[in-house]
Amino acid sequence: MSYTGPDFDPPQPRRSPLRRPLTVAIAALVPGALLGWGVYAAVGGPDDGGGGGGTDRAGSVRTSSAPSSSGPVSPTDDAKRPTGASPSASSSPSSSSTAGNPSASASKSAASGPLRGKVVVIDPGHNPGNFQHASEINRKVNVGTHWKECDTTGTATDAGWPEAEFTLDVAHRLRTLLEAQGATVRLTQDDDRPYGPCVDERARIGNEAKADAAISIHADGSGAGNRGFHVILPGPVHDGAADTRAIAAPSAELGQRIAGNFVRATGSAPSNYVGGGTGLVTRTDLGGLNLSTVPKVFIECGNMRDSKDAASLTSGAWRQKAAHGMSEGIVSFLRG
Ligand code: ZN
Repeated sequence: MSYTGPDFDPPQPRRSPLRRPLTVAIAALVPGALLGWGVYAAVGGPDDGGGGGGTDRAGSVRTSSAPSSSGPVSPTDDAKRPTGASPSASSSPSSSSTAGNPSASASKSAASGPLRGKVVVIDPGHNPGNFQHASEINRKVNVGTHWKECDTTGTATDAGWPEAEFTLDVAHRLRTLLEAQGATVRLTQDDDRPYGPCVDERARIGNEAKADAAISIHADGSGAGNRGFHVILPGPVHDGAADTRAIAAPSAELGQRIAGNFVRATGSAPSNYVGGGTGLVTRTDLGGLNLSTVPKVFIECGNMRDSKDAASLTSGAWRQKAAHGMSEGIVSFLRG
């Protein structure tokens, strides 16, 4: 969909309106300009479940409210369980059109292709079973800088389609695209475990796979009217088990390439509620990023609580475009 309507314009007037779509378009087309693309250290919610501006989680330790031009964001919005939504809900829109193999978490190595020899770890945010395992996912794990919940339930559309179903579907599509390029792909979970994994394990899976790139897929649970995608980059952290100093720069490059290609593939605009219109947000509170030793980003593909964004997120055709944008960004990053 194209975000040319007034509800996307003007997101954050305190920043130059010219930076917004323009910078993303430039990044998509001119890799050399990537380093010049400003990255805002916008502050979002604390979710490792994702949540940029964040409410893609069960709120508990928000460090700061997200800047928003369209009203306050409920920190607990995402914690609401989608009433009546079963993890395996057959109402899941367009969920069967993916070519993913739900029983395999790791893929075979492709024999050829530009990404031959490259390993990509895809982290589908949350888990459809998390709703049934509150005590397990609420257990605290150390993420270097602090302790936080093992995992969160994620958000859902107003109609009850869970984020965890969305993330798995996009992950399957992305895996198919990357494998076609020759990459070896591993998923952190494939609805093949009762809950989780915890955020520290999600990071560890990427580390142990020695991933050349890792991406955690989410959709946000922010207020209606908050729209668009954003890519979350690891900020500099050196505390306890967390040390992102070596991955911050390559992760930023990965994120910029994904953001640019996501715009091009989906026609979606960058978030109008975090990131100052750049589609990029830097955070230091996400265990999935803090504990990563490989280049890694999160992507919040849109806001499930906004009806217009939800219309995109629940469309299989749109999700294919989204996966394509991510794939193009990752390919661009890995090919240099
Ligand atoms: Zn999430």
